[in-house]
Amino acid sequence: MVTNYLGKTDNNSNLSTGRLYIVATPIGNLQDISPRAIAVLKQVDRIAAEDTRHSGHLLKELDINTHCIALHEHNERQFAEKIIQQIKEGSNIALISDAGTPLVSDPGYFLVKLAHQAKIPVTPIPGPSALIAALSAAGVATDRFCFEGFIPTKKGARKTFYAQRQKEPRTMVFYETPHRIVESLKDLCEHFGEQRRVVLARELTKTFETIRNDTAQSLLEWVTADSNQQRGEIVLVVQGYRAPEGETLSEETEHTLRILLKELSLKQAVKLTVDITGEKKKKIYNFALALKEAE
Ligand code: SAM
Repeated sequence: MVTNYLGKTDNNSNLSTGRLYIVATPIGNLQDISPRAIAVLKQVDRIAAEDTRHSGHLLKELDINTHCIALHEHNERQFAEKIIQQIKEGSNIALISDAGTPLVSDPGYFLVKLAHQAKIPVTPIPGPSALIAALSAAGVATDRFCFEGFIPTKKGARKTFYAQRQKEPRTMVFYETPHRIVESLKDLCEHFGEQRRVVLARELTKTFETIRNDTAQSLLEWVTADSNQQRGEIVLVVQGYRAPEGETLSEETEHTLRILLKELSLKQAVKLTVDITGEKKKKIYNFALALKEAE
């Protein structure tokens, strides 16, 4: 049974079964660890870490002596069942990754899925994630966004990846590696257009933190000219597709069309939207097509 950092007993935990804690750790700045995360990491029976040596440094800094076991993408399937068994026998176990929130482009999904299947309680201990940190400081719309993880490494796959997202209306968040950032931005310009707003969020919470919001082309030129921008860890936040002037619909028409598209074929949805709103068919058809392509 784990007592949380407020000193209250965790009533959801029963005596015979333990609990799985999913604990977020810093993405650079050690001070971003929460008091609750420290308390849980100190009190659990074991910590499952992506890389025990890497996490060992963090745990040492925080004076946490809990025993660590390795759970990474290559052994997750094999070890997840063992961990589940230990929790069933009463152990409390915390999962951490090298940095940020586990399961966000990091291992843990299989373990958490198994825990639910075994009716084991799973408790998130929220904290840093490069995805949310970048988004919160990017200065692009955050009301709707999609996280797409790592951009494919091979050129062909990357081009297809961008092409498929050309008309995605939501803000997109990608993880990219520094040695591919220039090539990646070139492909981004080609598929999303040079004027698309893009934010490069690099080395977040660290000494050389850089956040630059610019057009895709200007960002490409800046990163190409300054090799320092091709170092460290990078998140790209890309503004969603905006239909050019004349292709936009009124809020009401777009709402109607979106609802109908969920239930009907494109042709039927367009026809009914025209009947309901009286707007021009071509305009609605083009918009519906763009929505479908962005799916
Ligand atoms: N689970 C982590 C999270 O919650 O953000 C992400 C893990 S993923 C394996 C690592 C990638 O996250 C990096 O390649 C980079 O794209 C991004 N990232 C992690 N830390 C970052 C930081 N301090 N600044 C910018 N990007 C970061």
